[in-house]
Amino acid sequence: MNKEDFSDEELLRLLSAEGEERNMLYKKGARIKADYVGRKVYYRGLVEFSNICGKNCNYCGIRRDNKNIRRYTLTDKEILDAVRFAYENKYASVVLQSGEVESKGFTSRIEKLLREIKHISNNELGVTLSLGEQTRDVYRRWFDAGAHRYLLRIETSDPELFKKIHPGDSRHDFRRRLECLQSIKDIGYQTGTGIMVGLPFQKPEDIAGDILFMRDFDIDMIGLGPYIEHRDTPMFRYRKLLLPPEERFHLTLKTIALLRIIMKDINIAAATAMQAIDPLGREKALMAGANVIMPNITPGKYRDSYKLYENKPCTDEEAEDCNSCLEARIHMAGDEIGYGEWGDSKHYIKRQYNEKQG
Ligand code: SAM
Ligand code: SF4
Repeated sequence: MNKEDFSDEELLRLLSAEGEERNMLYKKGARIKADYVGRKVYYRGLVEFSNICGKNCNYCGIRRDNKNIRRYTLTDKEILDAVRFAYENKYASVVLQSGEVESKGFTSRIEKLLREIKHISNNELGVTLSLGEQTRDVYRRWFDAGAHRYLLRIETSDPELFKKIHPGDSRHDFRRRLECLQSIKDIGYQTGTGIMVGLPFQKPEDIAGDILFMRDFDIDMIGLGPYIEHRDTPMFRYRKLLLPPEERFHLTLKTIALLRIIMKDINIAAATAMQAIDPLGREKALMAGANVIMPNITPGKYRDSYKLYENKPCTDEEAEDCNSCLEARIHMAGDEIGYGEWGDSKHYIKRQYNEKQG
């Protein structure tokens, strides 16, 4: 645990830690976080602006073939009102997330929204996008319009497992996902990726491989959370293969702590899915090494329709409710909130500097 880096075998050993050893791992993650990125938690106001998706990932509740949900798209005004809420409450950054749509109309709409967000916030709000796989040209246009972070989870770094959790067609291709991640990095975004922990068929070896993948890809930010089943998805039939939720939860926390120990100065988000398993899930993630929280600022009436998995928390709340509730919870975890600060990934800042130095 006191090493700077780990081999496959050492990672496997630490991923299986239990009891006191497991607590020590979390404490180590928290200490490295305090030493390298500080005890400030940065907010990214999350706008889940549409559940319309052209893809059919086998795990996801808003996949194209799920006919059991009401599809919605927020109007530009609704998106900008949510963004204004974030700005006025000193969130400093927002995340625009939706199902995956590749079209000229969608590209231009996001481009226009990005310019508008920059305009209404006097260029002060940071914008992260999480809009799935796009062409390099589209990523570039959105970057030029003001987005500076992009989150695209690899989901799993093992091509075979990737095939098992996606339909076997050209729209769900591991190589394309990797290429997209590379384009995002090349263009100059702060590059975020992540995985789902506790997928059916996923072995501890896979998670160790994912940790090493994220290290070797030299990513700047991580958003990872436990896989949670959804009854209207093809993967629901494998629910008997899953680890109990509590074990999936701790496996996720251990993965966060290990990533923090290895990658010290990256940003790590405490995913909402943590809270679906444990009411204090996000706070526990902060205490194992995470330093970013994405409060949901989507208008309450839409939240029930952005159900990626069962038990999604806070779907009956509005942004204001989340605000006061979260603040108390973060203080409880012993951290403070970096109101009004972008909280950019220190890793990215160093990486850019080193690249400029040649
Ligand atoms: N469509 C974009 C994409 O796929 O990158 C962004 C939105 S997508 C809903 C965001 C993330 O939700 C995915 O990367 C996936 O890891 C996560 N997700 C989907 N279904 C999930 C589930 N059943 N349990 C946990 N996380 C899930
Ligand atoms: Fe669509 Fe993203 Fe869900 Fe896949 S994970 S079905 S791309 S919203």
